[in-house]
Amino acid sequence: MKYTCPVCGFKGLTEPAYDKQGNHSYEICPCCGFQFGFDDYDMRRENGSFLKPSESSIAYRKNWLADGAVIFSPECFPEHQQKANRVLKQHLLEQLKQINVHLFLS
Ligand SMILES: [Zn+2]
Repeated sequence: MKYTCPVCGFKGLTEPAYDKQGNHSYEICPCCGFQFGFDDYDMRRENGSFLKPSESSIAYRKNWLADGAVIFSPECFPEHQQKANRVLKQHLLEQLKQINVHLFLS
């Protein structure tokens, strides 16, 4: 059983990112590199204040996409869905749909 990353939509987590009690898995997503329970509390605004965990995953996703969707562990990601260690654009759109994020890439 694999679980979907709530940040990038990649179905490759060995544990749910958050369990029913809201505990974090501390797993690092092999696709986007987000670590549940760590990056949630590590994102800051420009003024230095911390983002809420719910805002952090959105901000992290935005940065990750802006950087070109670089795969954190390319060896753990399907080979035919990546190119130069980045998620193929067409696959990226499908992957993000899994978490209801709809992107329009040029
Ligand atoms: Zn991810």
